[in-house]
Parts: sequence; C-alpha cells; structure tokens
Amino acid sequence: MKIVYLIADGMGGYPLDELGGKTTMEAAVTPNMDEMAKNGIVGVAQTVPEGMQPGSDVANMSLLGFDPAEYHTGRGPIEAAAQGLKLDPDDLVWRLNLVTVSQLNIDGIMRDYSSGHISSEVSRPVVETLQERLGDDRYKFYPGIQYRHLLVQKDGANDPDAEININPPHDITDKSIKLDLRAYSRSPFLWDLLFESKEILGDRGINMSMANSIWPWGQGRPLNLPDFKETFGLDGAVISAVDLIKGLGNASNMAVIDVEGATGLLDTNYEGKVEAALEFLKENDFVFVHLEGPDECGHGGDTADKVEAITRFDARVVAPLREALKDEEIAWIVTCDHFTPIVERTHTMDAVPFIINGTGCDASGVDEFSEKSANSTGLKLEKGFELLSYALEKVGKK
Ligand SMILES: [Zn+2]
Repeated sequence: MKIVYLIADGMGGYPLDELGGKTTMEAAVTPNMDEMAKNGIVGVAQTVPEGMQPGSDVANMSLLGFDPAEYHTGRGPIEAAAQGLKLDPDDLVWRLNLVTVSQLNIDGIMRDYSSGHISSEVSRPVVETLQERLGDDRYKFYPGIQYRHLLVQKDGANDPDAEININPPHDITDKSIKLDLRAYSRSPFLWDLLFESKEILGDRGINMSMANSIWPWGQGRPLNLPDFKETFGLDGAVISAVDLIKGLGNASNMAVIDVEGATGLLDTNYEGKVEAALEFLKENDFVFVHLEGPDECGHGGDTADKVEAITRFDARVVAPLREALKDEEIAWIVTCDHFTPIVERTHTMDAVPFIINGTGCDASGVDEFSEKSANSTGLKLEKGFELLSYALEKVGKK
C-alpha cells in the first residue's frame, strides 16, 4: 500500500454572504473529494498547537507528523534547510525580507512586505552587496528567492537576540512598525545593521527596487527534524513550489522534487506535479503534494479565485491521480494545513478538515467535503501531528 497525501494550502474558510452562506470549499466543484469523503474517514485536526502562530511552517510540520511544539524553531531555520545551508547548532537563523516602509522610525508604516514582489534578478545582487559591505564574523547574508532571504547570526542562539519578537511583515501591511523597531533596538548590533542596510538600499546604483529596508524576523536555531523514513517506515517525497515545504522535506531526509512551472499560484503547473508524484510512486511509498493556490487567493481576499483554486485542485490534482492509480492499492489523505478565510485574509487557528480514504477505512457517509461536514462527524484529532500516524494505523500500515 502506498500513501498519497494531498494538501490544498489555506483551503478552509468561513461562510460568505456573497456565496449565499457557503464557504469557498462548499461553493467549489469538488466531485472527487466529495466521493472520497463519503467513502472515507472524515474529521478535523488541530494542526496548529495552542499558543503557536498559525503559519504554514507550523501547520505543515504537523501534517508531516512532527510536533511543532517540540521541533519548530522558527521560519528562518526552515528556509535555511530548504537552501541546504550548513549551520552550527548555536547559530541564530533569521528570515530576512526586503521590505518597503514609509519611513524607518517609530512613525513608520509597513507599506509592502515584498517590495512590490521584487524579482530574484533584482534582489540577489542587493543581498550580495549587503553581504559584501556588512557581512562579518557575526552576520552573514544569504540571498534567496524574490523578497525572501536569510541572515545568519553566528552563535546567536544563546544571545538575548534569540528572544526578540518581530512581526512577520506580511501580518502588518499598512500598520505601524513602532513595536518592531523598539524590539530591534534591544539589539545594538541588529539596530546598526538595519540602518547601515538602509544606506545601501538607498543607493540607486545598487538597488533599483522599492525595497528600502531589511526586515529580519522568524529567527531560531537550525531545524533538526527526525528522519522521516526512520519515523514512519516510508520512502517519501515532498512536491511543492514553496521553500518551507522543501525545507521540511530536506530536514527530515525526504526526497524534495522540484517541478518546473510550479509557481504557488492559481496558474501553477498542476500536471507537472501530478506527473512527478506518479513517477516517484513507481518506486517509493509516500508523496506529500502541496498546492499553495487557495492560500494566496485567501490572502488576496478574492472569493471567485479561491473557489476556482479549490475546483482546480479537485479537477487537476485529485482527479488525475485517482484515475492513474485506480488499479493500485492506495491510501489517501486529503486536507489543508490551516484556514485562510477570505474575511480574515490571513491564517486562523481553526482545526482543519481531513479525509482518510483507503482499505479498512469506515465510510463517513457525508455528502460532501467541507468544513461543516468534517466537523459533523465528531472526529477531532486534538494533536494534529498525529494525523499521519492515525491514518497509517487506519489503513493498516502501522
Ligand atoms: Zn499554509
């Protein structure tokens, strides 16, 4: 028996007036997920533990079977794992955004967490210059993709800096940066770095983008996950456009499969992901296929696009995989990592709906796959990180 684990990031949401009181999951056309829900186990899982931020990093770590309360050290460390950076256990790894602020002082406002979705071609030389001019024994800048980069603070994990609490910049769009600047000011070195970077970013010979500040956040010790195969006895792969999923895969020694044209948006290469999953399953046991589209549409507050993203997930990922694997013995897990409700435009703590479908699974009898139907069965996994082992047990794989 092989396991296909399908994640529509941010798929869950709340009822909307503009959809006549339906959620985007209910409004989407999802005959495949509906049928799998009817014939499978349906419930909800608390992927984000109480007291933690409902980020994709925390939630997907849970889905992969690792307790975030034990293993999650920050967003930066997961992305460093995606890049395969060599780190020491006492390094402090920051995620580093290039951002646009109205002004870099306590009256400042966060204008754009992405510097107008800066391209890698423009951002890479900027971060390389920051490293050239400001990198030293204490700090090292690593260019990443678009607006997402890394800053490694040598031996910083034991400094008070490790405890500084900086808002993720995408959570404070058009809001004050006062509290964050106060937090930065507690570290004299970081404070200097911020203002020295500002000078460099202000040089039009170096930086032609909207970026006018660095924004280090999400810091922590290097990520150290158990080996996936040792833990679950499965040769697994992750397939995703998103760095943090690749980081989780790398850190747990799973295969990380890159698919050309996987964008994380509505227009992603669905067929390429399906093909990559089928190819990997020929010789191996487990694929974790992650689609980012519904989450992006939730952040954008676009109802029609989110409905379409969920419809496409069913039609272009779930359907072709079911068709191609109809003669194989497959157990399916279908879920989302967290809700990204249109009305909130950000992630929430709600327990996520899931389907487990395969030999040995009782039929829930629900008539569709939705937030409501999943909650109606009364099955709730309070520890979301147990969903995978729960599913493996139900299908007789553990
Ligand atoms: Zn997510």
